[in-house]
Amino acid sequence: MEKPAFLDRDRPDVPDLVVPGGVTPFYLAGQPVRGRLIRLGVLADALLTRHDNPAPVTQLAGKALALVAALASALKFQGSFSLQIKGDGPVSMLVADCTNTGALRFYVRTDQDALENLLSTTPNPTDRALLGDGYLALTVDQGPDMERHQGIVDIAGDDLAAMATHYFNTSEQHACQVMLACALTDAGWRAGGLVLERIAGEGGTETEADNSPTPDAATDENALLNPDDASWETATILAATLRDQEVLDDELSSPRLLNRLFHEQNLHVSQPRALAFGCRCSRARLIDVLERFPEDDLDHMCQDNGTIVMTCEFCNKDFHFQRQSITVGR
Ligand SMILES: [Zn+2]
Repeated sequence: MEKPAFLDRDRPDVPDLVVPGGVTPFYLAGQPVRGRLIRLGVLADALLTRHDNPAPVTQLAGKALALVAALASALKFQGSFSLQIKGDGPVSMLVADCTNTGALRFYVRTDQDALENLLSTTPNPTDRALLGDGYLALTVDQGPDMERHQGIVDIAGDDLAAMATHYFNTSEQHACQVMLACALTDAGWRAGGLVLERIAGEGGTETEADNSPTPDAATDENALLNPDDASWETATILAATLRDQEVLDDELSSPRLLNRLFHEQNLHVSQPRALAFGCRCSRARLIDVLERFPEDDLDHMCQDNGTIVMTCEFCNKDFHFQRQSITVGR
């Protein structure tokens, strides 16, 4: 059995941070609408400030974290949801993932020269300008016994929310509305978002809001007998009134914020779920990786002082190993 992170003394010195109400699932009873409100709170600052990126890149990363947090909370089984964007822009790669228990992490790779060039002419570039042309992939990994599901679409739209909406409309075949926000506030970096889904056929129920990533027609008596497009339309119009500042405001609780939007739509707020600092790196794991390299490669990685440095791209932590202490093929 895997050692829990808090007992693992090989773990790096990263924050053990949990935000209990990070994800708030909800549904509109009797209407084909369910959703999730995401607020990363202090976790956004802890995750984002471990990486030394310019503000527009940090903002993009924060929105990516909110997006994967929303998607992972719909996982039925143990596993993770990951977003990968690869483009020809100054941000050449963005990876964010979240487990079913809410453990979040990310990294971005940037082309420094291209990024400086862009920011010198456009201080506040769109997500699209940062990413360029390329593709966006969403992967659900629910362990070795389950089939890995991956969907890929071209990058389309100006911001990450539009890109995600495009993804859902082309590969998931049900309507979706995505709102994402991230900014540096007086309290530090904050990130969050709202994902609204149109459920196939009938009305939202408690179970659906909590569990189902691919909703089937509900058989619950709460189901609306005559679901029409109007209630979905209304919900999207109400959701579109949500402001970035509201999502990023720590003082405004998630149930209160949802109530502001949907108080006349039969809103049912479900049990909130936690989000946490989710890097899974450790010395022991990295030693395992090193021991699989050929001796020649290890010698090549070794610095003059006899150490090999490995950096966890997710938490941006350097690990130092004595070259001599690595036994190949143990
Ligand atoms: Zn790490």
